[in-house]
Amino acid sequence: MPSFRAPRGTRDLLPPERTAFVRLERIAAELAARYGFRPIETPLFEQTGVFERGVGEATDVVEKELFRLAPRSGEGETWALRPEPTAGLVRAYVQHGMQTWPQPVRLTTTGPMFRYDRPQAGRYRQFWQFDVEVFGDPGPAVDAELIELAFRFYAEAGLNPPDAYVNSIGDEACRPAYVEALAAFYRARIHRLPALERQRLERNPLRLLDSKEPAMVELNADAPTITDRLCAECAAHFGEVRAHLDALGIRYVVDARLVRGLDYYVRTAWEFFPVGARGTQSALGGGGRYDGLVERLGGRPTPGIGFGIGLDRVVLALEAQGADSVTEPVPLAVVVGAEPGATAARLRIATELRAGGLSVRADLAQRKLGRQLEAAVREGARFAVIVGDELADGLVQLRDLGAASQKPVPLADLPALLRRKATVA
Ligand code: AMP
Repeated sequence: MPSFRAPRGTRDLLPPERTAFVRLERIAAELAARYGFRPIETPLFEQTGVFERGVGEATDVVEKELFRLAPRSGEGETWALRPEPTAGLVRAYVQHGMQTWPQPVRLTTTGPMFRYDRPQAGRYRQFWQFDVEVFGDPGPAVDAELIELAFRFYAEAGLNPPDAYVNSIGDEACRPAYVEALAAFYRARIHRLPALERQRLERNPLRLLDSKEPAMVELNADAPTITDRLCAECAAHFGEVRAHLDALGIRYVVDARLVRGLDYYVRTAWEFFPVGARGTQSALGGGGRYDGLVERLGGRPTPGIGFGIGLDRVVLALEAQGADSVTEPVPLAVVVGAEPGATAARLRIATELRAGGLSVRADLAQRKLGRQLEAAVREGARFAVIVGDELADGLVQLRDLGAASQKPVPLADLPALLRRKATVA
């Protein structure tokens, strides 16, 4: 017999953990609506070019981590599972002519992302993101608005306020000269670069600044920063983003060496980490501006900005800070019965109670009443509705499982009675 397991780097979200995710998804959806974002859903896979062109071919996400789907013979197109949501949303923005919608267009989506990375604690091959994107707003106020929204999400999730690192990574006017200065810095120290970083140097020197290799971390402490090389427009934009953050009372640290792992970012970029824990696998979320991306994917020049929050990481951080674990929904009552044959009556009564908005389970198992009551107690139900002979007279027994007391109740009165009890905790 084969014994199957979930694929490496993925995991089943069993009911308690899934409930924690559902709670976060609900907070995300409610918050996004409050901030004027409209929900959107795009496919979990796209034509590979969407990511190669959008995210960038010389990025880790595309070069090493893209989940490519094997093409069937004869089919010209190739697809890949989405490693992040932005490129697909931009593809949709262009495809559906959203530039003719009232601008700015504010969209939100939450769902699984896929990266073929080496799995480790907090790094999965399938993970979940809460994502928001704004098209058609050059900022700088919206840049601060999104960072504030992320803080609000963490707060409503119950997380201690994370550390926020913010930077401007320039634009096509000023970044090329910086990238050249950076490349020159690394070339002068080529003997200190690990093999992979040497290869990357000629293709994407910015990636080296983001490297987690210990040798690189040491080297990078002396690497030139972009801050004093920003063009006047980028410097002014960044100054205003910071002024808006200050005006909103947001605490953040300017990190001149923060670059993001995807090619499309320009100007404002940011990341969130649990307080005092800036590890490679602990980022709670990140975002940035991508003013050139819509054009790169075939649309008209349109500014864009967004963030992704890793829900898996938020769940881990909540556990690490000892937040109360989430409570799974428990039925208010379980409909049980002494006569194994009378399942139809139990099912009917439960159905009527549920139609009336109550959370009720029917015990449909062919087992002794004692067993049914035990099961109801174990799952934390407050009441058992015991269906027996008196049903002929329109009566059931309502048992308070906590007090272990019971009384006969006319079936007709049961919904109202249970509803009253449900409101008294
Ligand atoms: P990124 O686009 O890489 O900055 O990812 C955005 C957020 O998604 C990160 O800050 C993490 O919270 C989360 N994330 C990214 N990759 C993974 C992964 N492999 N496993 C779990 N969470 C991830």
